[in-house]
Amino acid sequence: MNQPPKFGFYISIALAAFIGLTGCAAPTLDPTPAVPALALVNGVLIDGTGAAPVPDAVLVIQGNRIAAAGPRSEVTIPAGATIMDVGGATILPGFINAHVHFAYNEENLAAWAQGGVTTVRDEGIISTEPITGLLALRDTTGQNPRLARLVSAGYMMTVPNGYGELFVSTPEEARQKTLDEIGWGVDLIKVSLEDGYAGRSGLPKLTDEELLAIVTAAHERGMLVSGHITQARFISPLLAAGVDDIAHVAYDRIPDEVIEQMIAQNTYLVPTFTVFRNYGAPIAACVDNLRRFVAAGGNVALGNDYGGGPGKFELGIPMYEIGQMSKAGMTAMQIIVASTRNAAHVSGIEDELGTLEIGKAADVLVVNGDPLQNLDALQQIRLVIHNGVLIRDENSPVQK
Ligand SMILES: [Zn+2]
Repeated sequence: MNQPPKFGFYISIALAAFIGLTGCAAPTLDPTPAVPALALVNGVLIDGTGAAPVPDAVLVIQGNRIAAAGPRSEVTIPAGATIMDVGGATILPGFINAHVHFAYNEENLAAWAQGGVTTVRDEGIISTEPITGLLALRDTTGQNPRLARLVSAGYMMTVPNGYGELFVSTPEEARQKTLDEIGWGVDLIKVSLEDGYAGRSGLPKLTDEELLAIVTAAHERGMLVSGHITQARFISPLLAAGVDDIAHVAYDRIPDEVIEQMIAQNTYLVPTFTVFRNYGAPIAACVDNLRRFVAAGGNVALGNDYGGGPGKFELGIPMYEIGQMSKAGMTAMQIIVASTRNAAHVSGIEDELGTLEIGKAADVLVVNGDPLQNLDALQQIRLVIHNGVLIRDENSPVQK
């Protein structure tokens, strides 16, 4: 979904172009400004759409945009482009981790970007810093291609003494605080339905009316809503309210009819096996839920619920997460789509990112080897390009 400010921005550009054209007396215009081009050649293209890999492919980046992508025989490389031979490596979209925390942190953002994760979705602020300062940090770090792009869900919304950070007590207050978050500049809304954690249970939770007020206010303004659960019985109330993705696969069995309802509503699932492992939850039950969701045709996005702590979570490509997706029967191609296009979808940035298609922002991960044959190849990073800027280059010779 487009966010209103972005839409307004494009309107402004279009308007400026129109005024520029009509106000210009010169008969000839230069439609192609001299933007430096970079062409990756001799790669295998996996574009994130789920389309079959393209051997002997070329990817052309002009400025910060994808200008062309496809077989060498069909792509024209602009004169003067810098040509980089990637030696048969695999060219993928930059990966997106659609469930992290502690992303308002340059060190973490740098580690993600260097590891090939060029975008992260922070699923809930855990900080005493004012949100306005944190969102300002998102905007300034967003100017630095060496740092992963940050998509912010603001605070997780709940009721007083519930699981989350932003508390509401009535549907009216739920609507108003959703509008407050949007006014502060968040990128999406996060809600929780959580009964307990760390030995607690019976936590108070948002009512159906409060959930509906939040989702309605968010959707009216083009904002997605992500809903936290850890137990299967809380998925249905979130579906009834109309959330767009379920954060965490349940650790108890999700009934088949709930899976069918998720698919009917096109509600995505972001499993986060890593955090379940860290808390000692039964991973086999989590994997079984995902297996049935995927077999029924459900859409999955990558996320590990990064929460800090040495050795507990991977920065960079979350390989534990990917390994469990594979155990649940997802093909390597499905896992790549979950990590790129689908993760962009739940982050509300699918128009800009997630696939290597003409016009999209140039976030690119190049790995040695074939991840369709062996997913471990995702860790054999050769290049990372973020917003058109080469930020990691292991060994490719540059020719001019
Ligand atoms: Zn989380």
